[in-house]
Amino acid sequence: MYHKIGPEDIRYLQSIVGEMDVITHDFISEDYAKDELGTVRSTPDVLIKVESAIEISRIMAYANQHLIPVTVRGSGTGLVGACVPIEHGILLDMTKMNRIIGIDEKNLVLEVEPGVLLMNIYEFVEKKGYFYAPDPGEKTATIGGNVATNAGGMRAVKYGVTRDWVKAMEVVLPSGEITQFGRIVAKNSTGYALKDLVIGSEGTLAIITKLFLKLIPLPEKAISLLVPFETARDAIFSVPKILQSTLAPTAIEFFDRNTIGFAEDFLGKKFPERRYDAYILLTFDGSSDEDIQKQSHRAAELALNELGALDVLIVDTQERKDDVWKARGAFLEAIKASTTLMDECDVVVPRDKIADYIAFTHDCSHKYNVRIPSFGHAGDGNLHIYICKDNIADTEWKSLLTRVFDEMYDKAKEMGGLVSGEHGIGYAKKEYMRRILGDTQIEIMRGIKKVFDPNAILNPGKVI
Ligand SMILES: Cc1cc2nc3c(=O)[nH]c(=O)nc-3n(C[C@H](O)[C@H](O)[C@H](O)COP(=O)(O)OP(=O)(O)OC[C@H]3O[C@@H](n4cnc5c(N)ncnc54)[C@H](O)[C@@H]3O)c2cc1C
Repeated sequence: MYHKIGPEDIRYLQSIVGEMDVITHDFISEDYAKDELGTVRSTPDVLIKVESAIEISRIMAYANQHLIPVTVRGSGTGLVGACVPIEHGILLDMTKMNRIIGIDEKNLVLEVEPGVLLMNIYEFVEKKGYFYAPDPGEKTATIGGNVATNAGGMRAVKYGVTRDWVKAMEVVLPSGEITQFGRIVAKNSTGYALKDLVIGSEGTLAIITKLFLKLIPLPEKAISLLVPFETARDAIFSVPKILQSTLAPTAIEFFDRNTIGFAEDFLGKKFPERRYDAYILLTFDGSSDEDIQKQSHRAAELALNELGALDVLIVDTQERKDDVWKARGAFLEAIKASTTLMDECDVVVPRDKIADYIAFTHDCSHKYNVRIPSFGHAGDGNLHIYICKDNIADTEWKSLLTRVFDEMYDKAKEMGGLVSGEHGIGYAKKEYMRRILGDTQIEIMRGIKKVFDPNAILNPGKVI
């Protein structure tokens, strides 16, 4: 159905962005054929390093007219194959669009291009005393990728997810038209929420070319508590009770002794505490030392007196903060390094079901004789679960994985959960989304896709 790119197309694309920024098939690095997890692979016919909305607009108008598939790529740190050009065609690399345009201090809004890396946003705004709160684990992701996947992260408990921090965006539609969704306003009841539809649409509806992000004053202080429990169940059961209290934690993360072990091996550094089976990591932020000390004392009392915690370790020195948070940030890569190949499950379930869900993954691990480590954003009911291939034969792996995933997503459905809390659907999770949401909702999504992209040229084969 799609047009195969030929020399004439290449010449036209070069006339838009220059010869240097159009890289053809044989010269494209293997990295562009996959994302961070590498389970989905496909090479683009042509890679284009774009620098402006105008360039993208001209490329899209041409691609739309000639039926050439186009896939957008940020840093490629995704985990569900969303940025992989399944139908080949054009891959747009957004990382050269990396200008921080500036802060509108009166409206507390940051204006950036989509290829700016998350870590550069923090650095820029925090120097000026402002805070962009979403805190996904991979800081080398682009902000465009974060918005396109509605990335979550560690601070979602208190501050919400990426969607809550996007006020407006400039986009190029598949037709090539440039438009803006949302405005720099505090409220908006103006028609359908098109901006929010593009957020989390994984590059299937429009290409984000500029973002206007909400900022708040930087909380000056933060403190974390590492709280060990005898069992995972005890640890997880403490979460609703912490949230019912008047404490307002920024993060509530869960992990176990095994995951700490993977991080120690991966980083070559000892974690400050590894005597117990399960841990909750709590963070509080605030405007003064007094403020965060008060919160952390109350949290420690609650944990020790009412929640069955075995100890409370205060993570207040810079050295300890580095040890704990570096390890937390490395969990995914550490588990990946512990095995030959893995696939992941990013389910989200109601918070009161997390303990049962983790117990269920342990049952699956025994039943299928496969290693299934996990950790997660306990405060959000969002678990990251990894099915590790280890020494399982290639011939068995695919069918085993399908059986494990089938059970896991069926269980998530039964518990009132969803396929993905933050990593998205991409290519890898489409069938599971259909099973949980049902055909009616998928048809509504198809209808939306058709309105934005009647020729199905933008990131075909993804999400629906
Ligand atoms: C170690 C590690 C930790 C992680 N931790 C978290 C976490 O805590 N929370 C979380 O949510 N995710 C996490 N992720 C997943 C990943 O980092 C996020 O999904 C991130 O948002 C992807 O950004 P990217 O720039 O790498 O996008 P890519 O992987 O390149 O692309 C992802 C999707 O966004 C689309 N896209 C990219 N740019 C644009 C654009 N300008 N316009 C339209 N569509 C676009 C692509 O087409 C694709 O569909 C983690 C990943 C790793 C490797």
